[in-house]
Amino acid sequence: MYPPKFDYHRAGSVEEALAMRKEHDGKFLAGGHSLIPVMKLRLADPGCLVDISRIDNLKGICPDGDTVKIGALTTHAMVASSGEVPEALPEAAKMIGDPMVRNRGTVGGNVAHADPASDLPTVLTALGASMQITGEDGSRSVGADDFFTDLFETVLGEDELLTGVTVPAKTAGTGTAYAKLPNPASRYAIVGAAASISVADGKCTAASVAIGGLLPATTRANAVEAALVGQEMTDANIKAAAAAIADSLGDDVMGDIHASADYRKAMAPVMIARAVKTAVGRA
Ligand SMILES: Cc1cc2nc3c(=O)[nH]c(=O)nc-3n(C[C@H](O)[C@H](O)[C@H](O)COP(=O)(O)OP(=O)(O)OC[C@H]3O[C@@H](n4cnc5c(N)ncnc54)[C@H](O)[C@@H]3O)c2cc1C
Repeated sequence: MYPPKFDYHRAGSVEEALAMRKEHDGKFLAGGHSLIPVMKLRLADPGCLVDISRIDNLKGICPDGDTVKIGALTTHAMVASSGEVPEALPEAAKMIGDPMVRNRGTVGGNVAHADPASDLPTVLTALGASMQITGEDGSRSVGADDFFTDLFETVLGEDELLTGVTVPAKTAGTGTAYAKLPNPASRYAIVGAAASISVADGKCTAASVAIGGLLPATTRANAVEAALVGQEMTDANIKAAAAAIADSLGDDVMGDIHASADYRKAMAPVMIARAVKTAVGRA
């Protein structure tokens, strides 16, 4: 399959990328592993692509005190082999697609594309990440909770570039994990769950849990979090808390040829319990 014809411009800096996008009414191209397939399917016809993949200062993982900055052009493979970010991130990155996807696909592209079946939005939401965004009028930072707004939609404007993502550094007493039921062909999440759990004296003192794959946008599992905090982290208590996800799903659960909405609903507490149990073990 061939994509529609497009003009191509390569940017060497964030400023150049923003200017080129504006001049040519283009679309940013990072790893191309979501945008090019979408163009080949004729679901997008941007006319001009602004290649940002050679902007070197947007690549890499940089610890900074109690946070870690991940550049937007950092590949999934780089995240998968990082020991500097919370465990759930390399765990999720290792599960993305296949080696070719992981070597080309970028954190920024994954997050900006906001595919409901992507893994990183769910993990970044559970971690309480913030997204760094630069546009013509300056820069802003948006929490993951507010960033993902709907199916393939975020708060990013057409004229804004995601430059990076900031996550909390690993902390003693807190463990993070990601569990997913993958589509057997693409490896995209049918259901994915991420958890960040703090434990003291065997009891949960703080919990952040997110679910993805079955809703238009990843969402925090507030009822599960409330049911975890203050409890002994036994298997029975984790299972009971995970069951509370039923209260957070609402009417928007999606089904398709790979898995019905009812099946996804049934798998949600299973994936949450797995992520929470693993996170507790790491705390
Ligand atoms: C076969 C296959 C299997 C896959 N399996 C999985 C999987 O299991 N889990 C998963 O999570 N993902 C999966 N993916 C998606 C993969 O992770 C993509 O790489 C990723 O979603 C998009 O990143 P990219 O760098 O390729 O972005 P691109 O395809 O280059 O861009 C995607 C979109 O984001 C925009 N964009 C890119 N970077 C920026 C930026 N810095 N600022 C603003 N906008 C930007 C582009 O304009 C475009 O609209 C799979 C892809 C394929 C092809």
